[in-house]
Order: sequence, then structure tokens, then C-alpha cells
Amino acid sequence: MPREIPKAKSARLKKIIGALDRTYPEAHCELDHTDPLQLLVATILSAQCTDKQVNLVTSELFKKYRSAADFADAPLAELEQAIKSTGFFRNKARNIQAACRKLVEQHGGKVPRTMEELTRLDGVGRKTANVVLGNAFGINAGVVVDTHVARLSQRLGLTKQKDPEKIERELMALVPQKQWALFSHWLIWHGRRRCDARRPDCANCEIQKLCPQIGVTLKI
Ligand code: SF4
Repeated sequence: MPREIPKAKSARLKKIIGALDRTYPEAHCELDHTDPLQLLVATILSAQCTDKQVNLVTSELFKKYRSAADFADAPLAELEQAIKSTGFFRNKARNIQAACRKLVEQHGGKVPRTMEELTRLDGVGRKTANVVLGNAFGINAGVVVDTHVARLSQRLGLTKQKDPEKIERELMALVPQKQWALFSHWLIWHGRRRCDARRPDCANCEIQKLCPQIGVTLKI
């Protein structure tokens, strides 16, 4: 792709945002939850696991464990068993339990609303904190960069970075802050439905005219 001046990039991004908004007006977080604690736990479980599988597990899990204290006090082996099918279950169970202990001891059992406090919880990095802040509290503190957001940002020529935190910084500089949470939903939805990692459907893509298709070799 020839070098694009910032003004042209920002005009192109505006059109990409408009097209994705029209294509996915209902875009939202696909992890089932009814409160910030459930979203925090579901996001920890979603590492290396599909949202669909997490939702299957949490539909039972959240009936049994209803508060941070419930998770903190659960026998570890019991919690491990309940989340086993999401993979890396020993680590995830340890992190959920340790994070929930901190919620009980330091935050009155509630999920805090700042990036600093959230990322001090076990198993919670910027990505998880951004998911919780953006979707449970409506706070746009950053952009969620998961595998879809990273791949699409690169293919769309919005970043050359590979490290999620560097990608996030570049997206934060490009995308209006009020759209940070939505922007990652749009890219995740488009990544799942059109811009597959191995076989992107460029021929039918709603933003094909705006996409330099960087690094794409195999298309449907
Ligand atoms: S044109 Fe192809 S590479 Fe670009 S966003 Fe669409 S599907 Fe992905």
C-alpha cells in the first residue's frame, strides 16, 4: 500500500466506520452477562475459548455462583470442574478466585470502574479491563484488541504494529473516543462473519473498496 497521509487515513476510517455501523447496527458484546461481575468472569474464561463455549459454561456457572464472595469461597476443585471445558481451567479458576477475593477485600464485593484498579486484579489485563469498562459501565477507556481486532486493523492498513498494546494506542489515536467500544465490536463481528483469518470473503465484503487487504493472500 502506498504511504497514506494522516488526513486521507482518517477520511477512509470515517467511511469504514460508517459502513460497519450500517452493516452491524446491532453489534454488541457476545458474552452473556447481566452484571459487571458476570462479564468480568466471562471475559477471563474467554481466553483461548469461543464466546459460544463460554456462554454454555456460564449459563450454569452463574446460577451457582452469584457474588464475588461465592467465587472467592468456592472449593477450588469444584470451580475448576465447572469451567473445565473452557480450557486452561486451573489457571482461570485460580485467577477468578484470587480476583474475587480482592473484590471482596478491597472493593466491597463490587467490580471497580477504573483501568488501574481492574488491571490490579489477577488475570485481568488491559483487554479484559476494556471489555468490562466498555460493556458493563459504558466507559470508553481504551480499545479492546483481540485476535480479530488485531488482524482486521492490519489488513485495513490502520496499523503495522503486532503487539496488542501498540495496536490499541494507534487505534485510540485514530478512532473517536466515544466509539472505542463499538469499534472493537464492529471489527470482531466483521472478523467472525466476513474477514476470516484464513479465508476472508473479500468478494462480498461490505468495506472492500476501503480496504487495501494488507497481507491477504488466500481469498474465497
Ligand atoms: S476486503 Fe477482505 S481483507 Fe478487507 S476487510 Fe473485507 S474481507 Fe477483510
